[in-house]
Amino acid sequence: MITLDRSLHQLPAEYFGSTEDFHISANCAETDTLMIACSDQGAAPNNVSFARPGRFLVLQHLAASIRPADDYAGNSVIADIEFAFSQHAIKHVIICGHLGCGVIPYWLNYPDAPDSSGMRAHFEKTTLQVVNQAYPKYCGEARVKAMICEHTLFQIEHLCSHPFVLDRLESQLLQVHAWIVNDDTARVSAYDPISGCLAAI
Ligand SMILES: [Zn+2]
Repeated sequence: MITLDRSLHQLPAEYFGSTEDFHISANCAETDTLMIACSDQGAAPNNVSFARPGRFLVLQHLAASIRPADDYAGNSVIADIEFAFSQHAIKHVIICGHLGCGVIPYWLNYPDAPDSSGMRAHFEKTTLQVVNQAYPKYCGEARVKAMICEHTLFQIEHLCSHPFVLDRLESQLLQVHAWIVNDDTARVSAYDPISGCLAAI
């Protein structure tokens, strides 16, 4: 169980789906789930026990990052998400971080490396600042773990800032899920917006 400071994010709890919501539609025949995972996530991120073949569309990108609606010009990830929505009745979007992520340590350790996607700059403005302020006692692995979890939640916020996503959320056609995979055990933890915890599912 990972406990986060839930006051750091302003997302309505009703936007989030529960594991039960996700299981309920597991048997439908359609592709109903878009998973946005990290580009260095080695194990197939859709290889979870309730992912029957064809259910998931998987988009892999640097630390599963999404640019917000007020700053996404030229970024292809939003176009990929729009296209997925145009082709399928997507009911769930999962932003999937992972504890073995190499991208976030890279961003921390090489702050002058090229950042053509602008993702590291966003990371520095959001996750890095928040973790430094809200979890000042964390260091080493605990600090990176907090960053991986908080970064995933910021990407949910960014996703929800896009009107084509927000419309579906407000119409209750869509639910979002924040997942963190432990690469060593393949166990998945899901974020509960009421408690602020990431608990194993
Ligand atoms: Zn990663």
